[in-house]
Amino acid sequence: MWDFREERKDMVERQLQGRGISNRLVLDAFEAVPRHLFVPDELQFRAYEDCPLPIGFRQTISQPFIVAYMLQMLDLTGVERVLEVGTGSGYQAAILSRLSREVHTIELIPSLADRAAKVLADLGMVNVHVHIGDGAIGWAEAAPYDAIVVSAAATHVPGSLLEQLNDPGRMILPVGESGRQELELWTREGDTFQHEALLPVAFVPLRSRDGM
Ligand code: SAH
Repeated sequence: MWDFREERKDMVERQLQGRGISNRLVLDAFEAVPRHLFVPDELQFRAYEDCPLPIGFRQTISQPFIVAYMLQMLDLTGVERVLEVGTGSGYQAAILSRLSREVHTIELIPSLADRAAKVLADLGMVNVHVHIGDGAIGWAEAAPYDAIVVSAAATHVPGSLLEQLNDPGRMILPVGESGRQELELWTREGDTFQHEALLPVAFVPLRSRDGM
């Protein structure tokens, strides 16, 4: 079977390093994880393109650069416990599996969660735990998290996610209405939360009571 090794190398060089992604752990993770296994079979030949792709249920796997940018901003070293909201294809969770100690990822759509869990298990990524549920209220069972990454846009920052952040902790998420969202980085130190807007983005909406 075609392993897309060259396409993956090319993606890392052009789309990530070429745009300023320099964290070695992040670059190595992108070179190692077979992105084509996380897209529908008929789109495998497009898996390494510089864009999001449909994964069914009107959802998408994010553009590689955006995933790399978000994860580089989290500054992971391999020892962290991480929460991902919006498992989708499971691709970002697979990258996180290599950047942190333990990953909890929540998906609202059960079929997507099941499919992602199967691909992750087939790849032997035993430190990733896939949960079905509303990620806008986080996943209290395994809190607190050293880092949280949200892959769908909320109109405001969900309070439960801030509560489930460790001290110190970092969270990255898109915030805003459809069509005008900003990627925001939130950091916690003690009882102080600070945030900065990083760049304009276009994510699918975070659906739920708390996220509206
Ligand atoms: N990280 C994913 C991209 C996910 S797209 C990847 O690497 O493929 C965003 C996902 O968030 C979609 O699958 C959508 O179903 C999910 N989602 C939307 N609202 C949610 C919520 N409240 N809780 C959990 N998942 C949610």
